[in-house]
Amino acid sequence: MMDAEFRRPIQILPPEVASKIAAGEVVERPASVVKELVENALDAGATDIRVEIRQGGRRLIQVADNGCGIPADEVELAFARHATSKLRDVQDLERIASLGFRGEALASIAAVAHVTLLTRPPEEMVARRVRVEGGRLVENRPAAAPAGTLVTVEHLFYNVPARQKFLRQPATETAYIHEVVTRYALAYPERRFELVSEGRSLFLSPGSGELRDVLAAVLGVEEAEALLPVEAEGEHGARLVGFLSPPSLHRASRADIAFFVNRRWIQDRSLSAAVSQAYHTFLPVGRFPVAFLFLEMPPSEVDVNVHPTKREVRFRHGQAVFSLVQAAVRKVLTAQAPVAAPFAPAWIPPHGHGAPTPAAPPAGPQPSSMPSTAALWPDTASLPPLRVVGQVALTYIVAEGPDGLYLIDQHAAHERVLYEELTAERADAPPSQALLHPLPVRLTPRQAAALGEHVEHLRRYGFDLEPFGGDTWLLRGVPPMLHRGDPARALGDILDELAEGTARPLEDSREARVVASICKQVAVKAGQALSLEEMRELVHRLERTRSPRTCPHGRPTMILIQAALLARQFGREG
Ligand code: ADP
Ligand code: MG
Repeated sequence: MMDAEFRRPIQILPPEVASKIAAGEVVERPASVVKELVENALDAGATDIRVEIRQGGRRLIQVADNGCGIPADEVELAFARHATSKLRDVQDLERIASLGFRGEALASIAAVAHVTLLTRPPEEMVARRVRVEGGRLVENRPAAAPAGTLVTVEHLFYNVPARQKFLRQPATETAYIHEVVTRYALAYPERRFELVSEGRSLFLSPGSGELRDVLAAVLGVEEAEALLPVEAEGEHGARLVGFLSPPSLHRASRADIAFFVNRRWIQDRSLSAAVSQAYHTFLPVGRFPVAFLFLEMPPSEVDVNVHPTKREVRFRHGQAVFSLVQAAVRKVLTAQAPVAAPFAPAWIPPHGHGAPTPAAPPAGPQPSSMPSTAALWPDTASLPPLRVVGQVALTYIVAEGPDGLYLIDQHAAHERVLYEELTAERADAPPSQALLHPLPVRLTPRQAAALGEHVEHLRRYGFDLEPFGGDTWLLRGVPPMLHRGDPARALGDILDELAEGTARPLEDSREARVVASICKQVAVKAGQALSLEEMRELVHRLERTRSPRTCPHGRPTMILIQAALLARQFGREG
């Protein structure tokens, strides 16, 4: 029963209240504004889209495009609710080809911020400048501007204190925005995107039309090159293309699993589950793949008008889409490791860890060669004594233990060793080794941004750096373990690696990330020949670490091929 105190006569809400409520559904946080404005720029046919933010978008969001612009006599209308140029009648709702169609975004954003629109269609001579504050038009006058549209959003949520309270740190809001921009850059590789935060470029896609180029800009060249292409046809005119991580590359979160339907970035739990199931037994427990999957289907096969943010969609044949995704991903994964299939996914519990955890049977077809004993061993388990036998592929150390054959990734193992030594010894070890000649190092905007964020920890671990004017820094000293080799290049690589992490600021502590990337530089690489003595020394140091079984990035340092499994494979059992 409702408390009678709340019972007052029904009345229609004043427009300011109604519009704030409606705005709340579209504009949840700064990233929602960026998403809507980027979608508008894409719908306008822009080939060049530049997003600039300050204070995680709270102070300023600015989206500039070179699209078709808005004619002078329509600019005010663009801010009216349910005002759109993309939809005419109910039939149009069945075949939406544009990203926008609800005519709500500009009205919603303008209800909760100060918005300035500067726009000029290429065929007009004079631009128009319109300013709306909290839903009130305060200016509409001619102006000079290049063809295209520039939308400036300031003081977001200035009149919605409840929303302000839910905003996170600027760095976190920036990460959400970074995610939006990179996702759309992936969906539209033929268009150029740039994201600038506090005057520094965080992301730039070249607009070359090559998805691989955008992947490299988003993930870094090394990871992008490791990705596996996927391509499949489904029922009802559906098609899937995209890229997936091999089992060796995985993440602590689902942040890099993204779906697109007809180039719209969407959220879909069921498709996420399809990918997880396909990766089942290929990844350690609690780790997630990288997957960028693009579905194409006739617009009539998908209802995009389910939610005000348009991020949820409903498929007419949901089960068929699920199967298409799951089967296609599974096929790529099983095909990439036909020889290693019995072992590749086998994270077999080490000696003394009791019965293997039974893995939940994945839905869908299962290759018969998949071991049923796959499971992750606890990260903290210490190593049994290992006898080094040799090296294979100049990448793995082969060792024998009481429970079977160990294959140790020399690079990952060395990273783990260095990581623990560096964090343990920092207190007493000389923090920095001075360079004979200070080196000027020129940084890219991405590297400079990463340096800005991490300079304190880089200094603590031995990088003696000072500004040298413009984008150049003077490197005077380096961590002692980096002294050999090319210190300037190592610094650049470390900064590149740190810059890649901008979308996941919460995953690891900053300090841990700085240390991990220093270790990655110093560690022996795959492809490097090691003597028996060097391998023994490395394995011995690995045995003394606290988490010998994973590298600082969370990847496994070793796999165990159990003696029992070998016996079974050779038909020796029973
Ligand atoms: P919707 O995108 O759903 O149509 P919006 O409120 O986002 O609604 O935008 C309203 C209208 O303003 C659009 O239909 C479009 O005609 C115009 N518009 C908005 N942004 C741009 C832009 N960047 N370039 C050209 N036209 C734009
Ligand atoms: Mg729109």
